[in-house]
Amino acid sequence: MPVLQLEDVDVSYGKTQALRNVSLEVEEGEIVGVIGPNGAGKTTMLDSIAGYKEYSGSITYDGTEVSETSSGKLVNDGLVYCTEDRDLFPYFTVHENLQMGAQFRSDDGAVQESFDFVYDLFPRLDERRDQEAQTMSGGEQQMLALGRALMSDPDVLMLDEPTLGLAPVIIDDISEALERLQDEGLTILLVEQNSTFALRHAERLYLLEQGSIELSGTADELRDDD
Ligand code: ADP
Ligand code: ADP
Repeated sequence: MPVLQLEDVDVSYGKTQALRNVSLEVEEGEIVGVIGPNGAGKTTMLDSIAGYKEYSGSITYDGTEVSETSSGKLVNDGLVYCTEDRDLFPYFTVHENLQMGAQFRSDDGAVQESFDFVYDLFPRLDERRDQEAQTMSGGEQQMLALGRALMSDPDVLMLDEPTLGLAPVIIDDISEALERLQDEGLTILLVEQNSTFALRHAERLYLLEQGSIELSGTADELRDDD
């Protein structure tokens, strides 16, 4: 059974239909990409999966319909969302921001393991543990947002445009981190306008345009389709 499954999902904002008939599956351990232009409905899709939006159709995480549970419960059950606006605490340090990601975990030893894991994954964060988030570059803030998501020890990570507006060297660092997370067996739903980045990391991808899935396939199939 797929860990995440959308079937015939529709979402509207008043008269604007942002998603129509969207069906998509993510199996455990996969990196699945969703690519599409600005306004295609990508964020709306992630918001719906995270339990922030009303929808019709079905969205299940681990077999549970997300509208029948709460956003907090989904996070506790391992479904973690790294939003596009990052939602950092600007006056908190790197370390304090990371700590916030672990606030609902009770096993201090396991939390320490996650700190070690995140600081090893992002040496730039390690070097800036006591620096306020607001003083960091956009790329470092993106790493911090990712690190904070990892602090809740997710099973499934949803990433909304993690490379948006970032310099190529920083995108390389994020690429390397994603490869390590993939090796660790993390399941990732990667939403990107940057199709080059998504094609590099995702085994399977969906193309979303004007709220509809227009195409899906493996990275090789979609590359050839270009
Ligand atoms: P993407 O993430 O692919 O850029 P979005 O999910 O943000 O796309 O937007 C999909 C569509 O829904 C767009 O037409 C957008 O204008 C519309 N939309 C998004 N958020 C709102 C909102 N809060 N109110 C009304 N329309 C919205
Ligand atoms: P699990 O049983 O969940 O695999 P373990 O404690 O056996 O946890 O493994 C921890 C290893 O998992 C770490 O050494 C690290 O390489 C990796 N890891 C991957 N993601 C995380 C994370 N978010 N927090 C801590 N460790 C992680």
